[in-house]
Amino acid sequence: MTVYPLLIAGQPVRTETSDAVVDPATGKLIGFAARAREAEVDAAVDAAASAFPAWAADEAGCRAVLAAAAARLRAHESEIAELLTREQGKPLRQAVAEVTHSAGILDAMARFERQPESFAADAGRSVQVIERPYGVVAAITPWNVPLLLLFHKIAPALRAGNSVVVKPSEHTPLSTLRVVELLAEVFPPGVLNVIAGGGITGALLASHPKVANVSFTGSVATGRKIATAAAANFAPVTLELGGNDPAIILADAPIKDIAEALFWAAFANSGQICFAIKRLYVHESRHDELVRHLADRIDRTVIGNGLDPATELGPLTVTAQRDRVEQLVAEAEQGGARRVGGGRPLAEGNFLRPALLTHVDPASRLVVEEQFGPALPILSFSKVEDAIAAANDTEFGLGASVWTADAAAGAAVARQLDAGLVWTNSHMEVFPGTPKGGWKQSGIGYEGGRWGYERFVRAQTALARPAPSAN
Ligand code: NAD
Repeated sequence: MTVYPLLIAGQPVRTETSDAVVDPATGKLIGFAARAREAEVDAAVDAAASAFPAWAADEAGCRAVLAAAAARLRAHESEIAELLTREQGKPLRQAVAEVTHSAGILDAMARFERQPESFAADAGRSVQVIERPYGVVAAITPWNVPLLLLFHKIAPALRAGNSVVVKPSEHTPLSTLRVVELLAEVFPPGVLNVIAGGGITGALLASHPKVANVSFTGSVATGRKIATAAAANFAPVTLELGGNDPAIILADAPIKDIAEALFWAAFANSGQICFAIKRLYVHESRHDELVRHLADRIDRTVIGNGLDPATELGPLTVTAQRDRVEQLVAEAEQGGARRVGGGRPLAEGNFLRPALLTHVDPASRLVVEEQFGPALPILSFSKVEDAIAAANDTEFGLGASVWTADAAAGAAVARQLDAGLVWTNSHMEVFPGTPKGGWKQSGIGYEGGRWGYERFVRAQTALARPAPSAN
């Protein structure tokens, strides 16, 4: 069975211990990831620190390398996508899209223009504000969208002139290890390094005194630990954390026509998307109709191994996560909720059929916590102010949407939603170049476009006067 090595200073590194990675659709072993401990974390950070000055000094070279990296990803798209599906579970066409999109982010950053600011000179002074990289950036990623979230971090970090140490999730490390190995052909040694392991490895990296900037996507609890660890070194952090996104369906919404979009916004990737719809508030006059349409769509959903082209929803990636979703659904039912759909559709693997929960207690954990799986509580309202208040009554603030035939009413509701992303008649849609970031406990900072790039540069004000003349 293959042991996927770390990549440090351009060289594959095998370690004494490794972690098994299992296919969530079959429960079968796929391979092993070499596990980094302190020595490898130090070696990776040192390699990145050594490579940093030359990389930062060669902007044209950096842009060419990013474009070459995009081409290399595309050339290996099917191999990478298959590995991603096997370790994460998502349907293969979505894994292919993830690789394509990752290459697109690299290309966009290769084309990205810096915008140095010049101030009008006076009395012989020239003043410029210059964007400078930090040095070594740590990029720590989760298991639900391993590659796309990785490239959202490393493409702008590298474009800004930083060197990077990547730490993927212990549940889905193989696609990241393989991608960085493939990219070793285009990056100068040490500019892009990858180490694998769990929370211990991640904590060693986030707290490393030579790491100057930390970019993390994952849970709120881990984000808090990372922010604390990085604070000791005054390393700035970007945290893309959990969500509990509400969607509000107004009385005039064309239910039949939006049901398909709502289904995918809630259940794509089997609900394992940070800004999937996780709570649905529907006007009481349309409740039953909405439940009927969604229930019908769930009945028709093809659930199976992501490698099967017919599959619409794959397994949950992590068995403990599947168990947690089941537990939250069971608790809601014990509290009086009625379940439509749900259950385990297949004998093996971490599969769950999407579930709708009606008549739910708004205080139940399924509503209050981030369930991160295919279970959707549906709550009804009579006054839109109550729906807005309920939507905002959460520690999270990642995304939120309103669905209506009336554009003005939609805009009025959207303005009152406390979230970094708000949509009208859409959800989860990301427009290229715009910032994506959570409010409240959902994070700090942004990814995407100029806003994402700016997380990896610091300002340097350069004031110059001519030398005083001798006479
Ligand atoms: P997680 O927090 O358990 O793990 C994320 C990463 O952090 C993994 O690589 C893990 O090994 C590492 N880690 C764990 N403990 C650490 C520590 N003490 N120090 C440093 N690193 C440590 O999250 P997860 O379960 O992999 O991912 C699911 C979560 O990610 C959900 O909450 C989801 O909402 C969130 N998420 C957010 C976004 C976003 O853009 N806001 C996107 C995707 C996922």
